[in-house]
Order: sequence, then C-alpha cells, then structure tokens
Amino acid sequence: MDRTCVNDCVRRVVDGGEPVPKEVVRGRLCGSCLRRLADWLEDIPVDYALLPMVQMSLGSQRMDGTSRTKQTEAPVPGRLDVASLTDRRPSAPLRESGDELWYELEDIPRVLPVIYWWSERLRCDLDPQRTPKRLDDKVTLYAEIRYLLGAFDRLVDAVWVGQAMAEIKVIWVALTRVHGLISGPPVGPCLKAECDGKVFRNRFTGFPECNACHKVYQGLDTLKIQLTEEAATG
Ligand SMILES: [Zn+2]
Ligand SMILES: [Zn+2]
Repeated sequence: MDRTCVNDCVRRVVDGGEPVPKEVVRGRLCGSCLRRLADWLEDIPVDYALLPMVQMSLGSQRMDGTSRTKQTEAPVPGRLDVASLTDRRPSAPLRESGDELWYELEDIPRVLPVIYWWSERLRCDLDPQRTPKRLDDKVTLYAEIRYLLGAFDRLVDAVWVGQAMAEIKVIWVALTRVHGLISGPPVGPCLKAECDGKVFRNRFTGFPECNACHKVYQGLDTLKIQLTEEAATG
C-alpha cells in the first residue's frame, strides 16, 4: 500500500539532499494537505456568503464616478467573476470518460456545482445503492460543505481525493481573488513561513488578511507587516 501523500508532497531537506516524499497522516493525505483541505472547506462558505456584498460594493464604486471611462469600457471583471462563481448550473461541457462523468473546470469556477459534484460523489461511494442526484434548488453550499466536513475521514480516504482537492483549491483561490479586488492596496507581505501571499485589509471585518493563506493579522503583527513593506519599498 502506498503510504506517501496522494498529492506527491515532499519535505525539503536542510543539507540540500533529495527531497523526501511526505508520509500519509490520515486517509491518503499528508499533514499539510489535511490542514489545507479543512481550511479551504471552512473558508469557502464564508467567502461565498460575502459575494453579494462584493457585487454591491463594485456597483457603488461605479456610481461615485471613480472609474468613469469611455462608452466602450469593458465590464468590471469582478462583477463577471461574481456572476460565474454564484452560477448554480452544472459546469459544462460534461464528458464521459469510462464510467466516470468528468466536467471541465472553467477559469472562474461555479462554486456550488463543483462542491456538489464531490459531495454527491462521496455519498454515492458510501452508499452503493444510491442513484446520483442532479443539483436542484434545494441544495445549498452550506449544507454540502457541512456534509464534506462531517465525513472528512471518508473524504480524505477517497481514491479521488487528489483531484477533488485540486478543484476545491481553484474555487478557494477564485473566491479569495474576488475579495482581494475590493480591499485596496496591500498592507504588506504575509509574514507566515513559506507563504508568498500579500496582506490586504478586509473591507468587511476591517482586519488585514493574507490573500493566500487567509491568516488574519491583529495588533503588533499588523505593524510588523507595514514595517516590512516600508523596508522593501524604501
Ligand atoms: Zn500532501
Ligand atoms: Zn499568508
């Protein structure tokens, strides 16, 4: 049995030797992947719930004339992002591959259909009698995420967890990017080890937050980022 992380994660070696494959901690994932997946699943419904506020905020930016341009102006990208992210229709095109039904993940993913695909996949894996159901009006993102977190041990043990993680990451990044669009200039670089994210002030909470790892900064740490940024920009 393969005991290394399904995502081929490796540990860097201090003396410059060959990187060592990370061992599985639970299911098919290493410790870092377990943490990341749980974090993404917890962040996604919050970021998704805040999308209507992004929409409203982009609308008001246009109203006060700060981005007044010619008639031929392109639509505000953030607004298109939000429209795609909140689209409930299944992602198209669907194509059959053996007995699997895969879909193409677009640049801006439709959040609910992608999450639903994997939660329904897990329900069917755990109950072979179940016939897969199509996404209907009763399905909510919150309930689907709660299901995935509740069945986390089974999720991380699924043969397809690597692919699910890749797609959940695309969603998380897209949501983070949309929220990043509206939070003004960066406060500075993220101070967390191995994170190359930028810290922006979250318009809704008021706290600085990393756009990559989502670390929220408070008090002295905020000052530290500002000083790091000033040192870097002179
Ligand atoms: Zn891993
Ligand atoms: Zn970070």
